[in-house]
Amino acid sequence: MDEKNLLLRHLPKVDECLAMLNRRGLSQPAVLLKHVVQQVIEEERARILAGEAASGHKTPEQWEDLFAKRFAERMRGNFRRVINGTGVVIHTNLGRSILSKTTSDALVQAAGYYSNLEFDLDSGKRGSRYSLVEDLLCLLTGAEAGLVVNNNAAAVLICLDTLTHGREAIVSRGQLVEIGGSFRIPDVMAKSGARLVEVGATNRTHLYDYERAINEQTALLLRVHTSNFRMIGFTSEVSAEEMVSLARKHGLTTMEDLGSGSLVDFSPFGFPKEPTVQEIVRAGVDVVTFSGDKLLGGPQAGIIVGKKEIVAAIKKNPLNRALRIDKFTLAALESVLRDYLDTDQALTRVPTLAMLTVPLDVLKKRARRLLGRLRPRLAGSCTVSLERTLSRVGGGALPEFNIDSWAVVLAPQAMTVNTLEKRLRQLFIPVIGRIENDRFLLDVRTIQDCELAEVAQLLGDFFAGGER
Ligand SMILES: *Cc1c(COP(=O)(O)O)cnc(C)c1O
Repeated sequence: MDEKNLLLRHLPKVDECLAMLNRRGLSQPAVLLKHVVQQVIEEERARILAGEAASGHKTPEQWEDLFAKRFAERMRGNFRRVINGTGVVIHTNLGRSILSKTTSDALVQAAGYYSNLEFDLDSGKRGSRYSLVEDLLCLLTGAEAGLVVNNNAAAVLICLDTLTHGREAIVSRGQLVEIGGSFRIPDVMAKSGARLVEVGATNRTHLYDYERAINEQTALLLRVHTSNFRMIGFTSEVSAEEMVSLARKHGLTTMEDLGSGSLVDFSPFGFPKEPTVQEIVRAGVDVVTFSGDKLLGGPQAGIIVGKKEIVAAIKKNPLNRALRIDKFTLAALESVLRDYLDTDQALTRVPTLAMLTVPLDVLKKRARRLLGRLRPRLAGSCTVSLERTLSRVGGGALPEFNIDSWAVVLAPQAMTVNTLEKRLRQLFIPVIGRIENDRFLLDVRTIQDCELAEVAQLLGDFFAGGER
């Protein structure tokens, strides 16, 4: 008890600490400095009360160090660039897709200058922001019309709301998926006011299951891509073509949530065959939704393409105003869609596509270069080697599918691999990797060539003890 009280009484006063920091030239921004001092003292108080504080009180120098360290952390900015050494190309936690230089420039231009966002340069009258990308979407997907909203979850919401008006939507039990980040198809459907009618068994749904469920309350037949979930074994689902012909027979609308939705067929690169957006449009599905920042490799967006009357009705839905995209997204999206006008060009220019299709020998060379830079810097503190590894697509696309890749493997001598992983996350530019078999792996698929020197420098400084 006594010891606790003594420690509490020795906690410094905020004003005195600020005065001390001022004398050492630390005074701005005053609001943040004061907040940091209060927070550090409060944390120490809580530790003392919990009986977790070290015995003996801290010297002024120790306090100053604590304040200065925390202050530096807070001045660094919360939103930070990281190095992605995980090999997961569409890593939702690390920002999904990254953009090319040209696309980033388009975004910067939209930010720093006025634009024709909603201004028709021909007539001099008010224009529509969607018209800036609609022609490209139609050209690339073969659809009659298109619209873009905040993300694919929003696209699904506004489509269901517009198309069902509280009536029934029929969906296969095998497609009632949770995508992660609390996106569950049944929950989104409930929010949209659509009444969900589940048909089929978990593993198998047949056309007659849909047909039997159709009644005068039915508005929509819906197909959902199962994304990060895969059923194997005795399974079957109704194809888009079958669903369309059934819907036509009964005068119903069809919708498909493609999730990742790609404009490029990746099967020539050894990936499992997935339907492209164009194929689903060609199958006659009335409205198709997909993400802008998954396999498309663009900014966060929800892209809706489909029949003219249907897209027109979605555009008029008041929700559209609430879910609309900003000018930065539009600028970036137009730039990415232009890359797709030539598929070969898209495969090299869109970073997500380039990372997914980069040849294995290029990855091996990249890994060798990183190894060459690391070896001399890390000698004596860490064993470094090369190893074949497996990357993932991520973003819920092609789950369970592994892509051959190369990694630089670190085995530290003076710390555990868990400590290494944690400390590298705390670097000035955090380096994120994977732990496998008690070693730390950096998969070079997701590390850009221009980042290799930086990674070597960061790791070199870290092992040399130069990194705080
Ligand atoms: C990822 C995904 C969504 C959500 O898309 P966001 O762009 O993240 O909002 C919806 N449906 C499916 C099938 C998905 O894979």
